[in-house]
Amino acid sequence: MKSPVNPLPNRTEISQLGEFGLIDYLTKNIRLQNSTSLKGVGDDAAVIAADNRQTLVSVDVLIEGVHFDLSYTPLKHLGYKAVAVNISDIAAMNGKAEQIVVGIGLSNRFPVEAIEEIYEGMMLACKRYQVDLVGGDTTSSHSGLFISVTVIGKAKQEEICYRGGASVGDLLCVSGDLGAAYMGLLLLEREKAAFKANPDMQPDLEGYDYILERQLKPEPRTDVVEMLKQAGIKPTSMIDISDGLASEILHLCKASSLGCRIYEDKIPMDAATLTMAESFRIVPTVAALNGGEDYELLFTIRQTDFEKVKAISNISIIGHFTEQSGIAEMVTTDNQLIRLTAQGWDALKNSEEDKKADL
Ligand code: ADP
Ligand code: MG
Repeated sequence: MKSPVNPLPNRTEISQLGEFGLIDYLTKNIRLQNSTSLKGVGDDAAVIAADNRQTLVSVDVLIEGVHFDLSYTPLKHLGYKAVAVNISDIAAMNGKAEQIVVGIGLSNRFPVEAIEEIYEGMMLACKRYQVDLVGGDTTSSHSGLFISVTVIGKAKQEEICYRGGASVGDLLCVSGDLGAAYMGLLLLEREKAAFKANPDMQPDLEGYDYILERQLKPEPRTDVVEMLKQAGIKPTSMIDISDGLASEILHLCKASSLGCRIYEDKIPMDAATLTMAESFRIVPTVAALNGGEDYELLFTIRQTDFEKVKAISNISIIGHFTEQSGIAEMVTTDNQLIRLTAQGWDALKNSEEDKKADL
């Protein structure tokens, strides 16, 4: 694992600790934070209290070479992100994540210090979002590293937001800004290519903190869930943006059998995203629509909640739902109407291809 970002000077072989020694070592500092976590690591299964709320469960698997590249992903960030994206899924249901279980596949090219870094990142996210790591499984992998995180969350039945709850006229809202995580990825890929061509070259990442953080250390928007609750707004539908705005809008449309119209000039983007897009010569809107990994929340509200949502900072109203089932359109800044597909937009696509793109 030679990498400029993961140098790991000390090396303890996993075999020195053994599987159980490794588990003990990694989990010894866990302190349970939620009253629903009755039993954590240390038995054949964790025990989670059933209370008067409903249980939300989701899993995400991250595979080296597919979902992450260790040549530019610090292991601590990787651990953090693996937990953060799961918490984001629970937030998208308008719930609270309370426990995670972690499955990890390792090859002996990883020393104990590497796994420890991953766990430090995971524990940091757990602490920040008050989630308990209550169990897992540790196995050897003959190829790369994989990390599977299962999250368990809770929500009152009447609070849960599904993808399919929108009605015609509902306003489509998005938290934060979009496209930055993709710009961070492009930058890291560019520097990786430069490093490969000339290993003496130091990566030029100075001054790009925002887009790099958005890619390497996304934050689930549990604060938005909380702010909406405080404001007395229950979204009629909600999803988190993992694959890009266009794809997520289509998910909401499909689930509610409705259509949607958004306005290009309303899509929130940070100045750093715009600058980077310019230097890569890509249209910033494309980064927002197709980029993904922003982990912002995309949700609909009733028009009667308009004033309430306007009072919350960092939420943009970008469009509304229409009767045209399955059709998502964007009014561009030069006033053209363009059909959105899961890959962004393409006015020339025929309907057969549209269907495929929706899968
Ligand atoms: P079993 O053989 O019954 O599956 P294990 O030996 O795999 O049990 O696990 C023992 C305990 O350690 C369990 O509580 C399990 O959840 C926990 N555990 C195993 N691997 C990990 C890990 N990577 N991270 C956190 N907890 C783990
Ligand atoms: Mg096991």
